[in-house]
Amino acid sequence: MADANCIFCKIGSGEIPADKLFDDGRVFAIRDINPKAPVHILVIPRAHTEALADAPSDGAADAARCVEAAPGVAREAGLDASGYRLVANQGADSGQEVPHFHLHILGGRALGPMG
Ligand code: AMP
Ligand code: ZN
Repeated sequence: MADANCIFCKIGSGEIPADKLFDDGRVFAIRDINPKAPVHILVIPRAHTEALADAPSDGAADAARCVEAAPGVAREAGLDASGYRLVANQGADSGQEVPHFHLHILGGRALGPMG
């Protein structure tokens, strides 16, 4: 179910245009507008689910689909040999800014330890 105020729902529906690096109808990938690494891509389910904890089973399946899609998206972005990090922020302590589940792909430099 789309959320009328949600930026990722609007990108998913095409209401806000964005270059999609990948799109299988169910999940899509875009470049992060404020990259935290030389390559920073978001893999986003089209359906609105705020957090994994709230996800109905199809929401969890969407999250799994993001994980499935990530290696191909990362390969296309040239990260295959150098590696990358997958991150899913959940809730306040993670600093989650957009309350629509998504997976970050970060790479293109040594990312250092997680903190
Ligand atoms: P999170 O903190 O995990 O919710 O991550 C949200 C990410 O979405 C941040 O890295 C933002 O830079 C990114 N972001 C917000 N709006 C857009 C947008 N319109 N297009 C691409 N990335 C965006
Ligand atoms: Zn949404």
